[in-house]
Amino acid sequence: MNEIRTELNERLESIRELLLESMALVATRVEDVTEVLLSRDVAGADRIILHDDEFDLIAQQIEENCIETLIREQPVASDLRTIVAAMHMNSDIERSGDLCANIAKAVGRLQGTQIDDKTRDLIVRMAEQAKVLFERSVEAYSGLDAELAQSIDELDDVLDDLHRDYIQTVIKEAKHGDMVPQQSLQLALIGRFYERIGDHAENLGERIRYIVDGWTPEREGAERARARASAAETGDAVASPPEDEEIRSRGLAVIDSISEERRIDATRRDFVANVSHELKTPVGAVVLLAETMVDANDEERSRLIEHLNQEALRMESIIDDLLELTRLEEFDAVSEPVVIDDAVMMAVDLAKGYADARNIEVAVVGLPSDTRVVGEMRQIVRALVNLIDNAARYSEPGSQVGVTVDPLVEAVDISVSDSGVGIARPELERIFERFYRVDRARSRETGGTGLGLSIVRHVADNHGGRILVDSKPGEGSTFTLQLPKSAAASDEEE
Ligand code: ADP
Repeated sequence: MNEIRTELNERLESIRELLLESMALVATRVEDVTEVLLSRDVAGADRIILHDDEFDLIAQQIEENCIETLIREQPVASDLRTIVAAMHMNSDIERSGDLCANIAKAVGRLQGTQIDDKTRDLIVRMAEQAKVLFERSVEAYSGLDAELAQSIDELDDVLDDLHRDYIQTVIKEAKHGDMVPQQSLQLALIGRFYERIGDHAENLGERIRYIVDGWTPEREGAERARARASAAETGDAVASPPEDEEIRSRGLAVIDSISEERRIDATRRDFVANVSHELKTPVGAVVLLAETMVDANDEERSRLIEHLNQEALRMESIIDDLLELTRLEEFDAVSEPVVIDDAVMMAVDLAKGYADARNIEVAVVGLPSDTRVVGEMRQIVRALVNLIDNAARYSEPGSQVGVTVDPLVEAVDISVSDSGVGIARPELERIFERFYRVDRARSRETGGTGLGLSIVRHVADNHGGRILVDSKPGEGSTFTLQLPKSAAASDEEE
């Protein structure tokens, strides 16, 4: 037993050291990349891009270590918490590394751009702040200090403010017309990269608090809601959450015991914050583009209009998906018989345009299946379109997407498979959350909203079914929508 414990401790220690090493590496990388950015040192930027795989290597080591520990040592309770958090932290750090590489990639595109003193100064300050955030994460994680971890939120607020000033400055510059619109956009993007590095550090702070005392954002929201509710009952001012030791150590179990209503309250508040955050980017871009257009010549203007159009479409898809989610939440079990074969054909027809545009063939297997379910045709089609769109979105052009209908005894499985990028295990549990994306840049580039899979999950729930996923990074994914067959359909079969 002791031997096992020692090995487990050694493994955990090595995961911890690797995480600390890669966090510190982000802090240094932010500093380096800012230096090459400000001196427009393209060769230096190329060197940084070349070293991007340092992060991937450490991340891979951490992931392997975590998986090995899970398999071999079968950790329980707090050790398990450490490993789960480590896996999430690992991806936040890795993505911060990618963002540094993105900044480096922008250096070449900024050739010939005069960056004025104010913009420069704000870049320097954003970079310093991002670095401080990661240094604070190192400190909080090495001392497992929840308070220090919490202070990361405030540091990130400072970075957000700097980012806001920065965007304003870039817009003003663009209005002066000293810069071609592409360069203004490039600068705006750079600001956004720093801001997102800050968001990842904030996530690290949350994970550290989770390791130390089982804190989760949902729990804090629920505690606030509970405090408000009890204050409303007693007429008191809002009390601070109870410092109950037992509750502190129980972590996730606490969440399960809170009433559904309060949980929804907390989720809704997070949701509003997320929506605002999501819309901020396209709205910011539209403002920037519109302002830039004022003094642009004809050729630039048509390019800007194209960009404007893209951003407007993006906002439209986010709003469209949000409305769909609201409709799904309000859905009152409509019980019309849905012929699965029709739903699948309709979904394939609707998704074909996007797949064709990416040169991806959609092949359907298992029709006719002659199965029916009870529910709403529109919802099922929407869920399938989302799955097929995703399969096409996260695959290489020229590849194939398969849709398979497989009738079981009491249910029907509709699977959508691709041989695309796949999804790593720690991400699998999160992809159904609203606005969660594994790779934000790719999702954005290809028109994703981050809401597609939450819609699919809602549709499955509304039909008493479920959604399953099997995926391997680099090899591809299979999403299966499993819906219970209608009794009428079984009757007919008999
Ligand atoms: P999005 O609009 O970003 O695609 P979704 O909610 O549909 O949002 O999916 C959430 C995230 O799950 C995506 O951003 C992507 O990272 C991942 N994902 C979904 N489907 C696939 C797939 N078929 N292959 C790889 N990753 C996927």
